[in-house]
Amino acid sequence: MAKQFETIALIGIGLIGSSIAREIKDKGLAGSVVISTRSDATLKRAQELNLGDRYTTSAAEAVKDADLVIVSVPVGASGTVAAEIAANLKPGAIVTDVGSTKGSVIAQMAPHIPQGVHFIPGHPIAGTEYSGPDAGFIGLFKGRWCILTPLPDTDETAKAKLRAFWEALGSMVDDMDPEHHDKVLAIVSHLPHIIAYNIVGTADDLEAVTESEVIKYSASGFRDFTRLAASDPTMWRDVCLHNKDAILEMLARFSEDLAYLQRAIRWGDGDKLFDLFTRTRAIRRSIVQAGQDTDMADFGRHAMDQK
Ligand code: NAP
Repeated sequence: MAKQFETIALIGIGLIGSSIAREIKDKGLAGSVVISTRSDATLKRAQELNLGDRYTTSAAEAVKDADLVIVSVPVGASGTVAAEIAANLKPGAIVTDVGSTKGSVIAQMAPHIPQGVHFIPGHPIAGTEYSGPDAGFIGLFKGRWCILTPLPDTDETAKAKLRAFWEALGSMVDDMDPEHHDKVLAIVSHLPHIIAYNIVGTADDLEAVTESEVIKYSASGFRDFTRLAASDPTMWRDVCLHNKDAILEMLARFSEDLAYLQRAIRWGDGDKLFDLFTRTRAIRRSIVQAGQDTDMADFGRHAMDQK
């Protein structure tokens, strides 16, 4: 694939940053890649994994010659990183991020970005429950959507370059208003994680059922929640704190619908239950048809169970 940028700086080299680094190298998308992370330990690991060409714990130092800067840190740290890099950004450079919330990231970062630098926030809808530089892999973004939430005065040429970058990583790219992004993600990502954290926490707190029973019989459904509930605590703390309004709106709606379900169970209203469960099955089929999951039984897990 052709080189798209002379120098790319990656600030944050965990699951997302290191997956991007692997893709850039694999596809030859940059002349050189500068990697920056705050801790010596993570930087050393990135170096051992040979993820870039230059390594530094100083984000300000990393962005000096960069044509593209990708910030991949927990959303609560976006403002601090933007303040740190602002003075060293090259005129004409593109600055983007991968944060799971957009309104808050824009509020934190935009005030620091100097005139003449293109700030185009983004969010790849791809991930796993693992974190750190070892967790990244080639193919994470393939066939997944990446949402860009450009600001009203965004330069179209810069946006087209960023779009082409994500497409080179195998993503499909959509533009969205940041506020709408935060509502959509509240229901498709943030609420499912909160529900998973909650159900796993409830099971852990139960006295009538022992922990060993929860674990032993988890294949009946519980274990599917534990994958989400094993996600990075820092990342998800920040998502909850930084998409508060949209999450609370969706949680209120969820609680109402749960009360409806609760009433149907209490009054033995089998028709209501059957109708809902039929409707939700169709959603699952649509996700598989859209290529966003496998149609293998048990999410393809039976292959693992054979081991
Ligand atoms: P990760 O694997 O935990 O890596 C986090 C990176 O950010 C590390 O380089 C870490 O540095 C650095 N970092 C942590 N706290 C920081 C702070 N306070 N200040 C500066 N740097 C800090 O995280 P990730 O999963 O790649 O997530 C990164 C971003 O991608 C988050 O904004 C998240 O919302 C978004 N995202 C995640 C997923 C997902 O499924 N995980 C999917 C889409 C988008 P050290 O290790 O050196 O401390």
